[in-house]
Amino acid sequence: MFIDGEWVDTEEKYSLINPATEELVATAAKGSRKHADFAVAAAKRTFESGVWRDLTPAARADILDAVADVLQRRGAELTRLGTLEGGCPLKLSNAFNEQQPVAMTRYFVNLLRGYEFERPGPVVGPPLAGGVIRREPIGVCAAIVPWNFPLPLAIWKVIPALATGNSVVLKTDEKTPIGALELAKELQAAGVPDGVFNVVTGDGGDVGAHLVAHRDVRKVSFTGSTDVGRQIVRDGALNLKKVTLELGGKGANVVLDDADLRLAVDGAIWGFMMHSGQACEAGTRLLLPSSLHDEFVARLVERLRSQVMGDPLDVGTDVGPLINATQRERVLGYIDTAKEQGAKVVFGGGMPRGDLFSKGFWVEPTVLTDVTNDMTVAREEVFGPVLSVIRYDSIDEAVKIANDTEYGLSAGVWGRDLTRAIEVGHRIDAGSVWINDWHMINAAYPFGGYKQSGQGRELGAGAFDEYTEQKSLQIALEPKLENRAYALVLSSSPAE
Ligand code: NAD
Repeated sequence: MFIDGEWVDTEEKYSLINPATEELVATAAKGSRKHADFAVAAAKRTFESGVWRDLTPAARADILDAVADVLQRRGAELTRLGTLEGGCPLKLSNAFNEQQPVAMTRYFVNLLRGYEFERPGPVVGPPLAGGVIRREPIGVCAAIVPWNFPLPLAIWKVIPALATGNSVVLKTDEKTPIGALELAKELQAAGVPDGVFNVVTGDGGDVGAHLVAHRDVRKVSFTGSTDVGRQIVRDGALNLKKVTLELGGKGANVVLDDADLRLAVDGAIWGFMMHSGQACEAGTRLLLPSSLHDEFVARLVERLRSQVMGDPLDVGTDVGPLINATQRERVLGYIDTAKEQGAKVVFGGGMPRGDLFSKGFWVEPTVLTDVTNDMTVAREEVFGPVLSVIRYDSIDEAVKIANDTEYGLSAGVWGRDLTRAIEVGHRIDAGSVWINDWHMINAAYPFGGYKQSGQGRELGAGAFDEYTEQKSLQIALEPKLENRAYALVLSSSPAE
């Protein structure tokens, strides 16, 4: 762990297991509540001292820009490490773990250089008053991230929190701490003062929950499951923390009858299969018009046959493993339940065969047809490479099915008539809607969920708002005492 500028080890360790081979990748410290307390104390001390928050935004931006340079230089190495601990195929990891952290950090640095931390307030009255409206850092922020994209998701939180002058304690997922620890090393080297950024490891229900309940933590930014998100709202209520939540999803991918099938078939695969479906904003419900259903499914299955499953370190691999055995059993369980409830498996449906798959946590990309939106597989987040195909007969019906979910993170619409596709997009209750593509995660577009997919937004021009408090500082300018508001309640004028 990295606490107050020092590397901290523990006797008890986590074993980090390569999900493709079940080999030991590394051991990592296993933090406790005591470590979380040390980290929060360091963050609080540095926040109060002003050692970071009192730097000019330009000075903070220069330091964070230097971090982007290093992330760029070390990109290939960090990507490889991420693949070893998380199993994300290198091909994909290049985009998400190598390019995204750099692009996101640069975006936040540019945002910081132009950010209006203070602006003149309007002159109002009578009684005459002027003032300034400021954005100030909140204090100690806890960032809690999951295992699927550990470095990029840490960057989404840590860089905006630091850019705006906060001190941070990042809790990594138990299975994937490497990227965050490397980030700590580089933030320190670039000049972030000791104690401003800390990384603790530890079990979610123990160290994570302790951080969320901690009285000196003023803000929690969490990415993970909806169940834990609910718990965080409850635990964070102890001192009414500010909370940002990025939670689960059940993305509806709506193909309209004029869609370009060449694009839409590959797009549907990209939507549900990226990182073996271990993505919150995956397109897991494919809504097809009855008129296109059979042709679309046939083409989908044909394309899936050419996808290569295997060693995630091989750049030719399209599909990697799931994170661990628990997740594999969970995903296989969802496929079984879907079959029991009447769905048909038209592709995949189990564990792949062959020597290559004798170790590791594999599930074949799986396509289920005859799914109805009330089935478990269409309602719950599977977090595996499982696509549920649902038929519809009118656009109104498609919109109704798309919105018939407690989630609202992502959706997609495919159609050549852009006006119509956009209109359908506007009718879907989701934080991100993509027209003729999927996984369009861009730093300049806010990301977050409607309904039980979250609270608040990350990325976009408003990203810093989640890490700042607004202060209205007003200056009384009213020269006539009788015009002051308090003249109304005080019975006589003060002595001259
Ligand atoms: P999870 O909720 O179990 O764990 C996420 C993190 O929270 C881990 O670091 C874990 O240690 C910690 N944690 C667990 N219990 C906690 C508690 N009581 N208090 C505080 N922290 C706790 O999630 P997971 O299964 O590891 O990750 C997959 C989930 O993350 C999926 O539901 C997925 O949709 C979601 N996710 C969402 C987004 C998004 O941006 N919306 C992105 C990626 C993943």
